[in-house]
Amino acid sequence: RAKSAGGNRFELADPEADARAITRHGLTTALPTALDRGEFFIEYQPLVHLGDGSVRGAEALVRWLHPQYGVLSPDRFIPLAEHTGLIVPLGRWVLEQSVRQAREWRERHGAAAAGPLRINVNLSPCQLRHPGLVQDTVEILERAGVEPDALCLELTESALIGADDDLLKPLRRLAEMGIDIALDDFGTGYSNLANLRRLPVSVLKLDRSFTQSMQQFPADPVDLKIVEGIVSLAHSLDLAVTVEGVETGAQAEQLRLLGCDTAQGWYYARPGPPERLHELALADATG
Ligand code: C2E
Ligand code: MG
Ligand code: MG
Ligand code: MG
Repeated sequence: RAKSAGGNRFELADPEADARAITRHGLTTALPTALDRGEFFIEYQPLVHLGDGSVRGAEALVRWLHPQYGVLSPDRFIPLAEHTGLIVPLGRWVLEQSVRQAREWRERHGAAAAGPLRINVNLSPCQLRHPGLVQDTVEILERAGVEPDALCLELTESALIGADDDLLKPLRRLAEMGIDIALDDFGTGYSNLANLRRLPVSVLKLDRSFTQSMQQFPADPVDLKIVEGIVSLAHSLDLAVTVEGVETGAQAEQLRLLGCDTAQGWYYARPGPPERLHELALADATG
């Protein structure tokens, strides 16, 4: 429909795709200086223990306040940042901000019954390939005075599929230091489960698609069996299971019954400013 046949000539017949391409070009141009201009900010989404409902920590999610386009979600610019290499300084900035934020929560929130709040930070495979990662991470933690076990680094399952030793070595170093490694969006890739044993991961983050299929109560029996199987395998390998995208109480209940450990989603809270997390954590500590 869109194309006219005629040699090498083709017409852009999809104005939206055209607009998207222009925006992408604009974003790519603006991206390298956006960090210096202070246009990125981080929202935090609480991670809640399914057993007792207490807030255990938060995931840091970066946003770009673009002067022209407004707030952009990471799906719009992380791939560009990866492509241009900016993900390395951007990722380092996110890590530094998040770790400092965790220190502040922990200082203000020392008496929490559930223990000190922890911070989850997403890591791109490009960062894993960057030789400075381990050293940078050590320095960021030391400078902030935060213990490594307060930090969990999330890598997507697809980033680690077929990972060679060069990629796994820094990950092992980080894990040996006591940093938790989570396999994000688990269940969407093709990693065979035996592959899990090769990876220095301690947390599985079950992809939102599984949570979505728990919409009904009781949920689809086949999906229930799959999740049940993943949870039991994870637990037998000493991995904790976090579920993402929990939007309803019925989903939370179903996933709790299936043995999942921690949950994250709009049902508990949308990603928000750091103050919000402090309020939520404080609320469940006091009542
Ligand atoms: P992710 O790590 O899987 O993060 C979870 C995403 O699900 C977030 O999208 C979050 O806002 C969204 N979410 C949370 N609860 C719900 C819910 O109940 N329903 C629905 N529909 N969505 C929910 P967000 O913030 O747009 O981030 C998208 C992805 O961008 C992240 O997926 C992560 O892979 C990437 N990302 C975010 N921040 C960073 C970063 O600092 N560095 C890197 N490398 N990637 C990042
Ligand atoms: Mg994540
Ligand atoms: Mg995820
Ligand atoms: Mg996801």
